[in-house]
Amino acid sequence: MSTPIVTPAQAAGRTYAVRTFGCQMNVHDSERLSGLLESSGYRPAEPGTDPDVVVLNTCAVRENADNKLYGNLGHLASVKRQKKDMQIAVGGCLAQKDRGTIVEKAPWVDVVFGTHNLGSLPVLLERARHNAQAQVEIKESLETFPSALPARRDSAYSGWVSISVGCNNTCTFCIVPSLRGKETDRPPADVLAEVRALVAEGVLEVTLLGQNVNSYGAEFGDRSAFANLLRACGDVEGLERIRFTSPHPRDFTDDVIDAMASTPNVCHQLHMPLQSGSDVVLKAMRRSYRSERYLGILERVRAAMPDAAITTDIIVGFPGETEADFQATLDVVAAARFSAAFTFQYSQRPGTPAATMPGQLPKQVVQERYERLIALQEDISWAENKKLVGRDVELLVATGEGRKDAGTGRMTGRARDGRLVHFAGDPATIRPGDIVHTTITYAAPHHLVADAPIQAHRRTRAGDNVEAGRRPRTSGVGLGMPSVGPPAPVPASVCGA
Ligand code: SF4
Repeated sequence: MSTPIVTPAQAAGRTYAVRTFGCQMNVHDSERLSGLLESSGYRPAEPGTDPDVVVLNTCAVRENADNKLYGNLGHLASVKRQKKDMQIAVGGCLAQKDRGTIVEKAPWVDVVFGTHNLGSLPVLLERARHNAQAQVEIKESLETFPSALPARRDSAYSGWVSISVGCNNTCTFCIVPSLRGKETDRPPADVLAEVRALVAEGVLEVTLLGQNVNSYGAEFGDRSAFANLLRACGDVEGLERIRFTSPHPRDFTDDVIDAMASTPNVCHQLHMPLQSGSDVVLKAMRRSYRSERYLGILERVRAAMPDAAITTDIIVGFPGETEADFQATLDVVAAARFSAAFTFQYSQRPGTPAATMPGQLPKQVVQERYERLIALQEDISWAENKKLVGRDVELLVATGEGRKDAGTGRMTGRARDGRLVHFAGDPATIRPGDIVHTTITYAAPHHLVADAPIQAHRRTRAGDNVEAGRRPRTSGVGLGMPSVGPPAPVPASVCGA
């Protein structure tokens, strides 16, 4: 389906900024929005200047999402009073959910667009300007697969590639299915074309994205599609690291474990949402696996890849959760030995079945359980990290992930298993995007330190691009020749926790 794009003449010279809230899916959608705006003649606003167009790409999953949105809009209202021709657009999940309410509550908003019609943004901005009237356009089904749109990538060394959007599950705490719709799978050839285009631009690491990557292929009737896709990515010359998020325990099959273990560039890292260790709570969440199955998958992953780092998402205080249910979660966490867990206190999200379930728990009960879970997981994360002291690691040097680096004189990178490592390195010669080999000398619960001498440093094309301030741009499904044109860290799961 073709996407109307505003001619560069109409937008020429106007500047834009996109602010992103929420999961990687949104981060990646924002790359598409930036690409789309640049194709239409907009250019990125210089830091410290007020853009002509501000796009808020919102999230409806996280707590206080609407407070955040209206807080931001309140601030932008005062900027707009000084800068009359500024335009404000709101997209993403909260826009899909709240629709016209946004312009009723914040009449200074110019455009509201949904998760199914990202491609309409330039046209809606132009129409809002021409008609001097707010434009609200929300579609009920996917208009264009977002990957068909141009993208301006955040990172020169690491890229996101969507394999599917939407979700066929009905987890009772999650708003994603009603906002992103049913799962739509992208053909493997299109996924691989985008992976190759990124690698041709020097990108070393690709993360395959979907709300439930393990059900990839359901739409075209191939249950092995995800394992086959991993294997096919293994054949892409120059692609050094493949990751994926999020898998779902219900659909996780052994052929995916085989593909991970036998494809050398697939990283031994698994972020698999547990949500609860209690089978009663899992049932109430409508998560159709049980704790035994979950732990069985972990056992088989570790048998095939003993060095695998496994992380998870857990919700504490789901309606009806008893002390015994919570103890079951602690038991599974103790058995699972996660390297890290993203823990969430349950909060009522309007529009989800769980929001109206009986048995909503008082805040202090949830808080107390949450603190016990964090304390247990901290101990486990620290113990697991300490096992790595003395081990050699390969690091992909990162930018923006080591906030204390300037003070400690270290640089930061990600190990193949996804762990964050602060290492002793010389930024005069080592650039983000380069590869270094070093040895772990110290472990903390949330990071590792490598103060040993660097064993090897490989300069990469990604490092050249970072040094030159260039980032990849891809032009959509037809892809053509992408072109390279500074990067950002991102949050964990695209599942709706
Ligand atoms: S929590 Fe994840 S699997 Fe469940 S409905 Fe939401 S996106 Fe789908």
